[in-house]
Amino acid sequence: MPIPRPSQPADSSSSASPFYPSRRRLLAWTTLGAASLASAALAGCSDSAHAHSGAAGAPPESPSDSFSPNATLDPKAISALPSPAAASPVAVRTKPVFKVHDILPDAPADAIALTIDDGPDPVYTPQVLALLRKYDIRATFNVVGIPGHAHKDLIRQLAADGHTVANHTMTHPQPLSKRTPAEIEKQITDAQSVIVDAGAPAPTLFRSPGGDWSPTIFAAAAKYGMIPIDWDVDPDDWKRPGVPKITEKLMAAHPGDILLCHDGGGNRSQTVDALKTVLPALKAKGLTFVTL
Ligand SMILES: [Zn+2]
Repeated sequence: MPIPRPSQPADSSSSASPFYPSRRRLLAWTTLGAASLASAALAGCSDSAHAHSGAAGAPPESPSDSFSPNATLDPKAISALPSPAAASPVAVRTKPVFKVHDILPDAPADAIALTIDDGPDPVYTPQVLALLRKYDIRATFNVVGIPGHAHKDLIRQLAADGHTVANHTMTHPQPLSKRTPAEIEKQITDAQSVIVDAGAPAPTLFRSPGGDWSPTIFAAAAKYGMIPIDWDVDPDDWKRPGVPKITEKLMAAHPGDILLCHDGGGNRSQTVDALKTVLPALKAKGLTFVTL
């Protein structure tokens, strides 16, 4: 199936976080330091390498977009996380999943998938969950390890509501492909540990920050039993372009599309407001939401 979007530019975002915390460094983080570093890591998140040419013009994230000070690490808990090394490897892919039927060939012809990235967030994730419950929709949440560790209850709630919990790295580094193979693997395994430790099933899906892929990333995901997933409908909601623009782009979804939204990493009130309209409207168009 052809991929209906242009090839991605190299991730050259100047806002990409230069840091990559080793476990020892994670342990050394202070409460304030962890919060600010996490904020720095996510400020360039974008899940929008696809839109990096436009990222330079995006409004800077305000301090209010930072993670909550509560979103800090508990060093003892981090050091005690279980190892995900027992996962069964899957075949190494050479490209990620862009369309629902790339991974779910037997899904209904009118299936679409909503993917929600960068949470969990104590403000926005519960709002998104309430909307999904209201409209009886299941989604795929690509969670980041740092906020996930701070909000294990939300990860459990995602799973309890029937949503798919996927791995979106530990600290959301961009570009992930420029990290060493060991760093890439650690980003994946640390996040996997956080998610399993929180009580969700071990993810079988991995989304790279910004949709930035490489053979090393594909190999690392496969080693830990995960299929790489991307998207093909991107409303750039993380840039906060206004509710009408987000709504318009999501409403243009066609059967088979994978939609991208964000519930973490910044102020996602526009995303929530858009989903209030988009979720019932897409169902009314006859589209069937599926998890990946
Ligand atoms: Zn992301």
